[in-house]
This record gives sequence, structure tokens and C-alpha cells, in this order.
Amino acid sequence: MARGENLIIKDFALIHDGDRILETGVWSALKDNFSGEVEDLGDVTIVPGLINAHVHLELSHLKDKTVQGQGFTNWIKSLLSNPLYDLDTEAVRNAVKQMRAEGTAFCVDISTRNCAKVAGIMDELSMGFYACCEAIGIQIPKDGAKFFPQKNFAYGHAAGSGHSLYSTGAELLQGVKKANHAAGLPFPIHLAENEEEDEIVAHGSGEFATMLKGAGLLADCGNKGLRPVEYAESLGLLDESTLAVHCVRVADEDIKTLAERKVNICLCPRSNTYIGEGRAPWEKILKSGINTCLGTDSIGSNYDLSMWNELEYLLKNIEISLSPADALALVTTNSAKALQIDDSYGSLEKGKRAVYATVPAHLEDLLF
Ligand SMILES: [Zn+2]
Repeated sequence: MARGENLIIKDFALIHDGDRILETGVWSALKDNFSGEVEDLGDVTIVPGLINAHVHLELSHLKDKTVQGQGFTNWIKSLLSNPLYDLDTEAVRNAVKQMRAEGTAFCVDISTRNCAKVAGIMDELSMGFYACCEAIGIQIPKDGAKFFPQKNFAYGHAAGSGHSLYSTGAELLQGVKKANHAAGLPFPIHLAENEEEDEIVAHGSGEFATMLKGAGLLADCGNKGLRPVEYAESLGLLDESTLAVHCVRVADEDIKTLAERKVNICLCPRSNTYIGEGRAPWEKILKSGINTCLGTDSIGSNYDLSMWNELEYLLKNIEISLSPADALALVTTNSAKALQIDDSYGSLEKGKRAVYATVPAHLEDLLF
């Protein structure tokens, strides 16, 4: 059975050549038109391959290595006490294998130092991806060839991303956004994640600002009392190719701006809870019509990288009811639209990549 887009098909069959979907429909009608190996999945529900719109695989060695529920400044201190960028390729490989086994077919990976290596691992394990080299500070690192993977990949593309308004210089953010746009790629940025960000963007102050300054990473946000979304808008960073990650601290006016600018939002519900940042106004964001999707963030601020668990957490805690199609869209259709990959992902249709996920039995009742 296949579900999605208000469409439930019983006795569903997906015909593929190992790479692309050749045809979909009802098994009894299709079976005489095709030959080849048949795999009967039994009494299960399948949906399009899941999309994780925000993860940092570079940090795959950090499970249980950070504090929980104590706010962003304490979390970042505990994060920085670890050897952050000593890439554990085995941990990355295992994380990608686990994600693939759970039905995740595409992810937006953000990497500060190891973009090329992580991209290579995702490619090898047939994980679709954007491998985003994260810009922090005020200029792109001098060893640019190492920073941006130069290779052509079978399953993904290299892209840029901005860390945040407070840690990446305004001109660099604008430059990365422009370069991504020219290449037909989305522009991911952590936006309105926590109160520390509010304080720095508005006034350039706070304990976290002092930490950033000490590391030479404090961006000049103008200290004009603006909220992060207002400041991002003033820099021209908000449009339909922007993927605003988190959006925990957004006022009603911010949601209006994000909706008007057709910005895509990636919510990371469990990461925000893990760190102790509160939660985004999910209900208002979804009601506003903003194209919304989900991401896990890194294992350094989550319990696992399962998109099913991310969706389950949201569905169990959200205060409005979502139709099965709307709920599943958060990890399939909406994400594909936000990432401009809907020619290959997001639905089970002829010509798209032959990737699907099976709904875990315990989620059937919650979803349907
Ligand atoms: Zn992140």
C-alpha cells in the first residue's frame, strides 16, 4: 500500500530499474506488462523516500557527549569541549547506513571542516545529498579547494550554507546565498534558534557574544535592536530559495514576513528540546502556509537521526491535528520543494528516484 498527497493506493506496485521509477499503480493491473524480479513487501505502507533537511554528519561521533536541557550557551560549551572536527569516518558511515535503513533517501548535510569527506561517504552509500560547506566568520577559508568539494557526485551536490546571522559576516552570507542561487541550490541558515541569538543580533551582547568575540567569530549585526528575522530581511537573505532552520523564536510579524517572502522553514523539534531552547510555534507556522519540513540536526543535539522519530515527536506534541498527507509532507513533499529536488524526490512517480520508506508499525495509528 502506498500513501501520500491524499492518495492511498491498495495493492500498490512500484516498477523500477534499480535507479528510477518506471511506473506505479495497482499490482494486478501492472504485473502482466513488466518482467523481472518481484519483491513482495507484505502488509505494509510505503511512502516516498524520507528527506532530512538538516543534519551535521561531521559530528556523528558526539552521541551523548553534550549536556541536555541547559540552554544554548551551556550546550555549545559542552560541544566545544569535544574534538569537534576529528572526523570519525566509521561513525559517519554507520550514521548514513542507519539513515538509509530507516528510509531516509536525501539529506542536507552541513559541514564546517569535512564537507568533501562526508560527501564522499554519502555518495558511496547512495544517500542523496546537498553537502553544504558552512561559512563561519567573515571570509571563506583560504584553502577553498578543501572547503568546497570539487568532485562531481552521483547522488548529490556541494553547496554553501551560512552558519548564522551572528557568526557569519553579512557580506559572506549574501555571497553564499547568491552563489547557491546561481547554481540552482537552496540557501540553508540557522535562524532565530535561541535567546542568545536574539540578544546578539539586537544588542551584540551576552555571555555567548563574549565567547564568540574571543574566538574571532562575532559578526557585526549592527546592534539596532532588530529581531533575527528582521535583520535577515534587511540583508536581503529571505526568499523562496532560503531554508531557515529552527525558527524557534519568531514573533507573529516574523511569521508574516517569512510567509510573504516564501521562505522555507526546517523545524528541528527534538534538537531544540534537547538543548533546552523551547520550541517553535509549529501551529502558527503551519497555519501560515509556510512550506515547512523537518530535520534532525546533529547527533550532538538529538537522540538519533531518525526522521520517523522526529515526525512522531512533533505529532505527539503539536496542538493541532494534521492530516496524514500534511504530516507526511513534512518529511517528503514539502522538503523536496524547499530543496528544489522535486524532480527526483518527494513522491512516488514515474521518472523519480526509486526510493521509498516503510511506515513503522507503531506509527500507523498516529499517522492514519
Ligand atoms: Zn544545525
